Amino acid sequence: MLSLSHQEAWAQFLDFVKKRTTPTAFGNWLEPIVVVENDGEAIILEIPNIFVKEYLLSNFMRELKSFLPVGAEGEPNIQFNVAVPKKKEMAAPQLKSPSADVKIEVSPYELKLNNHYRFDTFIEGPANQFVKSAAMGVAARPGQSYNPLFIHGGVGLGKTHILHSIGHYIRENHKKLRVHCITTEAFINELVDSLRNKTIDKMKRFYRSEVDILLVDDIQFLQNRMNFEEELTNTFETLINQQKQIVITSDKPPAHLKLSERMSARLECGLVAHIGVPELETRVAILQHKAEQKGIQIPHKVAFYIAEHIYNNVRQLEGAINRLSAHSRLLNLNITEELVEKTLKEMLKDAPKRKVSVEEILKSVATIFQVKVSDLRGSSRTKDVALPRQVAMYLAKLLIDGSLMVIGESFGKTHSTILHACKTIEKKLQEDEQLRRQVGMIRRNIET
Ligand code: ADP
Ligand code: MG
Repeated sequence: MLSLSHQEAWAQFLDFVKKRTTPTAFGNWLEPIVVVENDGEAIILEIPNIFVKEYLLSNFMRELKSFLPVGAEGEPNIQFNVAVPKKKEMAAPQLKSPSADVKIEVSPYELKLNNHYRFDTFIEGPANQFVKSAAMGVAARPGQSYNPLFIHGGVGLGKTHILHSIGHYIRENHKKLRVHCITTEAFINELVDSLRNKTIDKMKRFYRSEVDILLVDDIQFLQNRMNFEEELTNTFETLINQQKQIVITSDKPPAHLKLSERMSARLECGLVAHIGVPELETRVAILQHKAEQKGIQIPHKVAFYIAEHIYNNVRQLEGAINRLSAHSRLLNLNITEELVEKTLKEMLKDAPKRKVSVEEILKSVATIFQVKVSDLRGSSRTKDVALPRQVAMYLAKLLIDGSLMVIGESFGKTHSTILHACKTIEKKLQEDEQLRRQVGMIRRNIET
């Protein structure tokens, strides 16, 4: 009887979440889950791979708790069993390993993998953990989990780093598999040249039978290049049909790319994973890791200061470390907050600030601190309101281009009140872990 109610509970859960997910996400993630009949308290879910568990728990915790049995701790009582793939799927992709006497064709357009871009040098945090584990899963069992793996996110957030990490891992652990990494620009150039030189058949042959793993960087460059799109779509289809792994990066999700329906559908049919802006703690960890690699020491306080000011691009964090290390070496100075401020002045000035409005900041702050926007704008000095109000002022100064005077006006306060709020919050952020998290959440809300 219990097993019947498990089935029912699951059906109700599916019914509820179906209306709250896209059909693609529902089809990819939820539909393949099977409820295993059992008499125990826990509901047993058979999932195609471990990512499905992460997906469920990170997206539907509340719904799972409402619809499924819960354990003593109030957690959903679910046992996840990863389905064992059928024999045929388990087998490594059919490889035609090139025999010694056959010359391996190497495309001149192939991109060399950056030797520093490896999984173990990729610092993870909540914003990129999912992408990293999906990438590691695909690298461990190429062609057998999600195909293609589509990674999207803003500039300088580590998409190429992850793509090359997959390449390195496969080259080191699946030695027979032929990894081909290419930028979309290079693919287009190669195609243009092959058409001109009448070697298109050779190119097609290469992509369709000499490659086991295709890593394609920056597919957004394929937009508005109609003539080339078809060739790449055909290549993808051929490779996927042979269970050969494809990994693609892009600055936008598939649905936002201006590509043909056929290509978009192809891109969406595997796993679409977003890489987000790393939160403050992760940025501090990245900075310290990069500094260590360069053989320089930066005090935690200084790393924190830099990470506070450069927030939406890891590449800029690296640039900061490079400048700092050059300055400190050349001038034989310790890396202090003053030195950082001096050296990074230009960089911080140039760091792109998003066009964020005070209204947006107030709304996000109000949501996280559970106060009303009108209270934030008001003048009540109770602690419940005063702290969030100072946070809003601090974020306005950080995220909005404009003088303190102008920002002050939009809060109905003087510029010295804003300055005071900023100093107070900066100080608190160094000591107060919870506040750091709250500010991190607000910024994520605003910046994504
Ligand atoms: P994208 O391709 O998304 O524009 P990249 O992969 O080129 O970004 O990353 C930019 C730089 O930032 C690279 O040097 C990369 O090593 C570094 N980087 C990005 N994210 C991380 C991370 N989580 N840990 C360590 N380095 C990172
Ligand atoms: Mg890149």
